[in-house]
Amino acid sequence: MKMKIAIIGGTHGNEPVGIEVIKNLELKKEASSVHEYDCFLANPMALKEKKRFVDTDLNRSFGAKGTRLGNEETESARLTSEISGKYDFILDLHTTTSNMGLTVLLNNDNELTRQAAVRIQKIMPEVKIIEGMRMNDDCPYTSNLIGAGLTIEVGPVANNVLDAKLILETKKMVMAVLEWDFEDRYDLKEIKHYKSFGEYEFPKESGWYIHPELEGSDFKELNPGDPVFINMDEEVKGFEGDSSITPFFINEAAYQDDRLAMTMSKVRLGF
Ligand SMILES: [Zn+2]
Repeated sequence: MKMKIAIIGGTHGNEPVGIEVIKNLELKKEASSVHEYDCFLANPMALKEKKRFVDTDLNRSFGAKGTRLGNEETESARLTSEISGKYDFILDLHTTTSNMGLTVLLNNDNELTRQAAVRIQKIMPEVKIIEGMRMNDDCPYTSNLIGAGLTIEVGPVANNVLDAKLILETKKMVMAVLEWDFEDRYDLKEIKHYKSFGEYEFPKESGWYIHPELEGSDFKELNPGDPVFINMDEEVKGFEGDSSITPFFINEAAYQDDRLAMTMSKVRLGF
C-alpha cells in the first residue's frame, strides 16, 4: 500500500539536524518509490533567528490543547492547512541537548504509530521507544497534525550544531519508515518501551545543579535517594520518588526556563 507521508524539520529553529535531513530527502525524492512523501520546513523565522521559537513553542501549538501566538500561530495555521487531512503518516524531526541517543516519541495510540516505531527499532536496535504523557487530543505537538505519526528525538547535540553522526542516523530512521511496507505487522506483546508519567522539577531556590552522577545518565535506572541535585557547598538532594524510575531529557537546555530537571518514565513490556 502506497502511503502519503509528511516529514517535518525545523519545528524548533535551533535544531538544524532535521533540516539537513529534509533538504537531502527533497533532493532524493525521485529515487524513493515505496511511498509518496513531502518535506516541510516548519518554522523559517525561528531558523533565521537560530532560536527554538519566536513567540511561543510551535511544538505546543497544535490541537485543541495547543497555545498559539504571533509567528507560531501563523506557522501552526499554515502547517495545519498544508498537512492536516492530506497525509497518512507524519514524522517530525528533533534533537535534544540531553544524552538520549536515538529515540522515537509516541503521542497517539494509533496502531500504525506503534508498528512504525517497532519497524525503526528492528532496523536500528539501539532506538528507544517512548510513550508520551500527552496523548491523542491532549497532544499539542506538531505530530498531532495527523492521527498517526512519530516524533524522532536524537541527542546529545548542542542547539544550532550540525552533528554528522546524528544527521546520518536520523536519515536512517526516516528511511526505515519510508522503505517499510505499512502492511507488515510486528508482534507488540514483548516490546520494551518507556511510559512517561511526569516531570521532575529543580528545587524552587536557585543554586542547585544536576548532580554529576545523574548528568548524561538518561535511561539509567534512578532509585529513591540516588543523587539528583548538588549545590556549591556540595550538599546533595536525592531522588524523592517512592520507587525506581527511568529518567530522560536530563538537563535539556530548552526546559531550563520551566525549571524541569528531567522527565520520569517507567519501563513497560508490550503495548
Ligand atoms: Zn525540538
